[in-house]
Amino acid sequence: TGTMNKVDLKTLISVAADTIAAHAEELTSLDQAIGDGDHGLNMKRGFEAVRAEADTFATKPLPDALKAIGTKLVMTVGGASGPLFGTLFMALGKEISAEPDRANLTAAFGKAIEAVAARGKSQVGQKTMLDVLQPVHDALLQGKTGPEITDAADSAAAATVPMKALRGRASFLGDRSIGHMDAGARSTALLVRAVTEIIEG
Ligand code: ADP
Ligand code: MG
Ligand code: MG
Repeated sequence: TGTMNKVDLKTLISVAADTIAAHAEELTSLDQAIGDGDHGLNMKRGFEAVRAEADTFATKPLPDALKAIGTKLVMTVGGASGPLFGTLFMALGKEISAEPDRANLTAAFGKAIEAVAARGKSQVGQKTMLDVLQPVHDALLQGKTGPEITDAADSAAAATVPMKALRGRASFLGDRSIGHMDAGARSTALLVRAVTEIIEG
């Protein structure tokens, strides 16, 4: 543990945008089941906008780049998830150092999750992206590495299936939200996998 590949931001942006594009239809159908069916399009629009400016972001120090990416996501993703993913990246940028080690990354990620929870007035157990973010942070705190982190993210997304949604559009369905994976939990797990495979792969 403690080792991280030194990776360039353009590669991270590219793999994140690729995975969202490759899974956009899946995210849409998850959101169709218990939401309004736009999560795939929302995320694809946002991450393609980030990809389009990857060169500019990559010239900035990491903290500034993450803040700029977060701002871009807020402006382009839309929906409930845009401000929340935007907050995640902006807060990460605020807390991370220019050349983070694992301890700094873990601490910054924890603060960023707190910022998302505050923005969403939400907490773990409500069938949202937080139900993936928190277990991934726990895995980092436990010193887990590559495949263990991606497994934690995938299991956490799967664990939203039996949950009842208490935040977002899916909460309007009450008990009928049970039995479907949360779309934002799935997109979060996809992003965690893409980033982890680059940083630790
Ligand atoms: P919208 O629901 O406005 O159409 P999206 O479909 O893009 O927005 O995103 C929905 C996802 O956003 C949900 O699957 C959930 O993971 C996440 N979400 C919604 N509201 C909240 C909240 N208050 N806190 C945390 N996550 C939330
Ligand atoms: Mg939606
Ligand atoms: Mg919507």
